[in-house]
Order: sequence, then structure tokens, then C-alpha cells
Amino acid sequence: MSSIGKVELSALAKYYGPVEALRDIELTIEAGEYCCLLGPSGCGKSTAVRMISGHEEVTQGDILLDGRNITNAPPAKRKTALMFQNYALFPHLSCVDNVAFSLKIAGESKKARRSQAMELLELVHMAEYAAALPDQLSGGQQQRVALARALITKPSVILLDEPLSALDPFLRVQMRKELRNIQKELDMTFIHVTHSQEEAFALADKVVVMSKGTIQQIATPRQVFETPNTPFVAGFIGGHNIFSAHFEPLSGNGYTVTMDGAAACTCGSQQHLEQAGTYGFSVRADHIRLEEEASGLDMSMPATVVLTEYQGSHVIVHCEIDSGDIVQVNIADDRYFATRPEPGQKVSLGWACRDMNVFPPNRGTAKN
Ligand code: ADP
Repeated sequence: MSSIGKVELSALAKYYGPVEALRDIELTIEAGEYCCLLGPSGCGKSTAVRMISGHEEVTQGDILLDGRNITNAPPAKRKTALMFQNYALFPHLSCVDNVAFSLKIAGESKKARRSQAMELLELVHMAEYAAALPDQLSGGQQQRVALARALITKPSVILLDEPLSALDPFLRVQMRKELRNIQKELDMTFIHVTHSQEEAFALADKVVVMSKGTIQQIATPRQVFETPNTPFVAGFIGGHNIFSAHFEPLSGNGYTVTMDGAAACTCGSQQHLEQAGTYGFSVRADHIRLEEEASGLDMSMPATVVLTEYQGSHVIVHCEIDSGDIVQVNIADDRYFATRPEPGQKVSLGWACRDMNVFPPNRGTAKN
């Protein structure tokens, strides 16, 4: 792992007048980590990276880079580089001159800056376009040039604000792989803003899920998917159903779960609950079983199929349960076509206790 590029955000907050864009942000990004800030539009992701890069003033709190407090340092003195959403290339400069621009400002000789710029254009597979102007390039090519331009100042951290959002879906997946390869090759800290769960999961060592100016969860992509810690996270990443039920801890291990419309069941103790009460929990859509597969499970209930959506490798079956809630069940295509549950059909659905992810008591019990 890299030894430079550790970023620490401590009690960080940002207000735009009365608008609270960020509050109580506590986050450590290790040197050499690929970190994705993930959340819906307006949750404060761009504000966070712009404050790290020095393009936005900090209202409260501190930003440390490798232990150095950079909260009030000018952007050029931070050893960070921000790649803007629209790439912001100079239209009248060739690719090589765009990349070399900041070295020109720093007074480096033409030969030295050209040779460094060419090295970086090679890294991003754009050397053959060195003489081209930005408007002669595709979106993906412009993005590579913008990345090379961000890298030329030898930053310790690269900040990318929705770098793939302007690309078509095919190119987005292609560039995603390239970004990850470049980050690994340079062994550099990347902080990447995205609203796409798929993008964050594909790229990140560490995912930071945000909502309304706060951090909801910091974890690996797998941890976020397997144990989302709030109803918001479970809802935002998709593929999860959110329920609530009454949980009664047993004197030994485990607890009894009572849920409207289902028979009470007793679960072993994979998750510790201190007190009896109503807790929210999530169950992955691919962990819910239908029909005879549901009958041997810990929790089961009657339901009616309302809609099916073919997705290729799996089929999404939406079912209404007695409470009126819709439950999403993802069934592998071969299993779906073996029984073909159709809209209107009465079915039974269920899940195993081990597949219930109970939200910590202070993280909400209801959908939001
Ligand atoms: P995201 O990047 O997650 O879409 P932003 O960081 O852009 O979110 O915005 C967070 C919040 O701050 C939003 O409510 C947004 O409207 C507000 N905001 C962002 N920039 C400004 C600004 N320059 N002036 C006033 N409000 C702003």
C-alpha cells in the first residue's frame, strides 16, 4: 500500500447560508485507497470533494492530508487535484499543452513539461492524440486527457466528481476499468463522487454512503450490500426489501420475531439485540424464496404476484403481502422458468433468519 495520500476529515461541516450541505463528517481514507462517495443528488458529495481540493471554504472542522492540516491552504498548495465533471479542458490548447499547462504556470522549461505531459498521455493511452484539440476528441478521450492533466502536478490525492456521468453506458464501463487500473498502477488515493451504486461497488475499496449531508455507512462494497446499516442505505443500493417486526430477546440466545401477516418465528442469535422492541430489518431480494422453496423457511407469509420483470440472468417478481407492502423477489432465470409465477397468482414467500439484517436500534425502524 502507498504511504502517501491519507485523508482525514474531522467534524467537517458546510453551510451555504441557511443550507446545511454537510455536518458531522468523520472520515479516514487510507493512502492508496479507492474511495467512492455514494449518494443521491444533493447529499453533499461534491461539496465534500470541493472542500478537500480547496475549491470550497470549510465552515467547521478540519481536513488533514498525511497529517498536515490543509483546511485553509490554497488549492495549489494541498497536493490534491480535482478532475471536474465537465473536464474543463482549454479548447484552444492541444492535448499535450492542456496536460502541461500547470507546469508552464510553474515556470518549467518547454522540454521538461512536454516530456512529462507525454508520459502521462501514454499512461492514459492518449499519446497519439497529443496534437489534437479537445473538440476533436470523444467524451471518453477528453476524460483521459483531463485525468492526465490532474496527475501532472504529482498530487497525493486525485478527486473525481462524477467522472463517468457524461459517457454512454458502454464507455462508462470501459472507463471505469481504466480508472481502476490507473489508480492501482499509480498506487494513489482516489476519491470518486458518484450516485451510481453499481459504479461504486465496481471501483471502491471503501464506499461512503451519504444522505442529506451526513454519512450513513462507511464499509467495503460487500459489507454495504450484505449488511446495510440503515433503511436508507438498504433502499438506495437497491435489491433489498425493508420490513419491520417486533423482536423479543430470549433468555438464552436468539429472539422471537413477530411480524404482521406471518407466523411468529424463533431465530438464533447472529445479531445481538439488547431490548425487546420494534426493529427495522432488510432482506436481500435474492434471498427471498417463493412457493414450495419458501415452505421450509423460518418466516413465511402469503402473497400475490403483481408484476414480473425479466432481467436476463434473473427475473424480478413483485409480490404484495397482507400489509399492502410490495416485496421484491429476485429469482434466477432457470428457477423462475421452472414454475413461472404470473401476476394475479397467490403464492407463499419466505426467508431464513440468517438472511435478516436487523438495523441498529438508533438507525431508524421505518422506511425513509
Ligand atoms: P451532491 O454533490 O451530492 O449532488 P452538493 O454537494 O452539490 O450535492 O450539494 C449539497 C447541498 O448544498 C444541496 O442542497 C445543494 O443545493 C447545496 N449547495 C451546493 N452548492 C451550493 C451553493 N454554491 N450555494 C448554495 N447551496 C449550495
